[in-house]
Amino acid sequence: MVELTLWRDVVKELKPKIKRADMLVWFQGTGIQRREDKKVVIGLPSIFAQDWFNKRYKLDILDAFKSLGEEIDEIEFEIDSSLIEEAGEGIDMRDFLKSTETKARKVPNKQEVKFTSHVPGEQPMVSRMLNDKYRLDNFVIGSDSRLAHAACSAVAKKPGSAYNPLFVYGDVGLGKTHLLQGTGNAILEYNPHMMVVYCTAEKFTNEIVQAIQKNNVKGFRNRYRRADCLIIDDVQFLAKKSRTQEEFFHTFNELYDDGKQIIISSDKPPKELAGIEERLVSRFEMGMIVDVNFPDYETCLAILHKKCQEMEMLIPTEVIDFIACNVHNSIRELEGVLVQAIAQAQLENSTPTVNSVAKIMKKLGKINLVTEPEEFVAAQTTKRATSCTDVINIVAGYFKVEPEDIVGAKRAREIMIPRQVCMYLLRNDFNFSFEKIGEEFGGRNHTTAMHAYKKMVKSLKTDHKLVQDVNAVKREIGL
Ligand code: ADP
Ligand code: MG
Repeated sequence: MVELTLWRDVVKELKPKIKRADMLVWFQGTGIQRREDKKVVIGLPSIFAQDWFNKRYKLDILDAFKSLGEEIDEIEFEIDSSLIEEAGEGIDMRDFLKSTETKARKVPNKQEVKFTSHVPGEQPMVSRMLNDKYRLDNFVIGSDSRLAHAACSAVAKKPGSAYNPLFVYGDVGLGKTHLLQGTGNAILEYNPHMMVVYCTAEKFTNEIVQAIQKNNVKGFRNRYRRADCLIIDDVQFLAKKSRTQEEFFHTFNELYDDGKQIIISSDKPPKELAGIEERLVSRFEMGMIVDVNFPDYETCLAILHKKCQEMEMLIPTEVIDFIACNVHNSIRELEGVLVQAIAQAQLENSTPTVNSVAKIMKKLGKINLVTEPEEFVAAQTTKRATSCTDVINIVAGYFKVEPEDIVGAKRAREIMIPRQVCMYLLRNDFNFSFEKIGEEFGGRNHTTAMHAYKKMVKSLKTDHKLVQDVNAVKREIGL
């Protein structure tokens, strides 16, 4: 477990000295690993980060600790790849920057909402944090997760009455925690006064053990009873823990009988949960059961694009394609490779390439490449060479203009529209980078292509004739 409160203060001290983009890339997921007397060990999730931090940030970090009045005279960095894997453990920089940039925050931070027990003399319990970065609206919906997402949205709108309990299952790294926390966040958005408690089954177990030790099981029960929505993540962890299961059974019943929402996740469907009592299994089966699966290629691409957007990074499309082609186990892995690729590129002041990403995947060791980089690039260039000319020819034919004019410099409306249609299709359906489109269109700047693309996206929302034209062209291309 990393220590975050002090680390947030340190990062706040560093903020004026470090570029925003660097903060987003390098500090994401970091945290204080441990303290040994006057030494602090900082955990870094990226395999490239150690040198970078040693060279650039060490002294500043030391100063920051000192100016916060901490007696520290040594800083050490340690690579801890579990900080990426255990999503949400380290500092979330997007969230951090957002919260430090909005000045007066009137609404209390959800993570700080107190879940008070109201039992005199007892410690109020702080609700297990809901991380703002997990939202239902930044969960990319693919065909494999449509049902799970829809169920979560329904629960968020009508907690306690849509589906109760909601049970989400699937392998690791496929978005269960994201969906659960996203639902919790959405419930709070609709009903700011509700008490939403998110807790991993592991934490729930630890709390019971502590309550038993302190002879305060009653206090524990009272606290949980106040939740309007209880979210228990990774319930398989309760296997064979009969005392915890018993407590959970009672908590479940009480909340359920009061019409409070319960959301559970697990790595298996209820029936296959070994070591969980039958009476709990049958309760898990009372509501809605949905699963999450590894998404199809297009959804993987969309997720990667979304993550790039969130990190405010522009990554060449072929690099994104290459990652999506080669990662087949979990979305966490997909994201992990992307983050490492960005970190390395920053370090070397370059842009990630298919080759550099392939190296990273090999270094991470977990991923067997389906396509070698050379093969991948070769396949892409042949596809591109034919498709680009094809697209231009077909569009030119459809709009009855000359292909040379489309790539040329003429600015008449009859030419501009087909040109924009071409650029849009190349970007949208052939995943060309804007740079590449610029090149293909008489060496124009990539911003021209980007502008054309954005303009098309906007026009397609209102201009029905244009939509018809684009669809007709797509049919001719065979899309
Ligand atoms: P699980 O709890 O199933 O192990 P997580 O919810 O922790 O998986 O997901 C792993 C990572 O993948 C998280 O960073 C999450 O935001 C991301 N992720 C998973 N599914 C999606 C999706 N459909 N859209 C966007 N991000 C996703
Ligand atoms: Mg999880």
